[in-house]
Amino acid sequence: MTYDHRLNKVPTIPSPLESPAGIVADTLARPLQELRISLTDRCNFRCVYCMPDKSFVENRVFLPRTSLLSFEEITRIAQIFVAHGTKKIHLTGGEPLLRKHIENLIGMLAQLKTPDGRNLELTLTTNGSLLAKTAQSLKDAGLTRVTVSLDSLDDAIFKQMNGVDFPVSDVLHGLDVAHAVGFGPIKVNMVVKGGMNDQEIVPMARYFKGSPFILRFIEYMDVGASINWKMNEVIPSSEVIRRIAAHMPLEEIEPNHKSETAKRWRYQDGSGEIGVVSSVTQAFCHACDRARLSSEGKLYTCLFATGGHDLRALMRDGRTDQEISTVVAHLWRSRADRYSELRGVSRKGMGRTDKKIEMSYIGG
Ligand code: SAM
Repeated sequence: MTYDHRLNKVPTIPSPLESPAGIVADTLARPLQELRISLTDRCNFRCVYCMPDKSFVENRVFLPRTSLLSFEEITRIAQIFVAHGTKKIHLTGGEPLLRKHIENLIGMLAQLKTPDGRNLELTLTTNGSLLAKTAQSLKDAGLTRVTVSLDSLDDAIFKQMNGVDFPVSDVLHGLDVAHAVGFGPIKVNMVVKGGMNDQEIVPMARYFKGSPFILRFIEYMDVGASINWKMNEVIPSSEVIRRIAAHMPLEEIEPNHKSETAKRWRYQDGSGEIGVVSSVTQAFCHACDRARLSSEGKLYTCLFATGGHDLRALMRDGRTDQEISTVVAHLWRSRADRYSELRGVSRKGMGRTDKKIEMSYIGG
């Protein structure tokens, strides 16, 4: 196993119990605005930067289906987070569209309202393989936005990166169907791994320029224990921008909101924008307002955490909403994580060598 389950704790219930106040902040004054929920640790792709086939199969056991949170349990936790000020729920995995009847869960989450009566932002990230089939039912169920991962337009490179020979055309078809059923603006995430797909930066930019899709370039990160990450394979966002701007002039624009992970750039000719997510070279921990819930109900306060807090055990122990809510408030208030910022100042950015959780488990 690459992940040490002994590091998981069943939280003790603090006393006195409290009622949620609609806002809770951590030790660095970061509010709890977003909950990312992994619906499954399984995926039908074997991406080289996430769950590369060989080392993954050798090192890891997938969760048994009985370990997964039920839709009722997920909705219960989501409701507790919303009472603490969470405004955005992001469904991920693994591949979230592998979870059967996901539209029922989306329907349940779409009923939740913020303390001031607003709808949640309810989003999902997918590899796009099942999107053409599911887009209409996801939209009908109340999903507000979808993000699709696509690392290349070149079939040979894409197939090498996804590890299962999946063709580019099927992902592009999924994107078109998602757009046709009314999702928008749809983001397309490209993880750039130096020496593998960096020659696709400009062709991808050109292809999506002027389209209804917003392309975002993601720096290759040192997640999990299976990918043998090397700093020299990270293409800094500044280099991505330099390469695109050499052909299609760009200018930086304001973020949509303070905690946005991507820096935004627009084409000077007015034909849309791109984003760059610089998790390695310009870490944004100071604005990180995201908690993560694994598919078996462990709460993580950082993508790079080594252990989680077992909320499923509390639910299955018959704990009340107020007890679990008090636990969540205490966990968030004591949060001090800022792994990516510290990575930059320690050991020449080589990343940590102790046990890290796979991104497919914790949710990307
Ligand atoms: N299966 C879904 C998908 O492909 O989008 C959701 C899960 S995936 C783990 C979520 C996101 O994490 C994807 O955009 C993926 O490209 C990104 N990701 C995975 N491993 C990464 C890494 N080592 N560095 C940067 N991004 C990574």
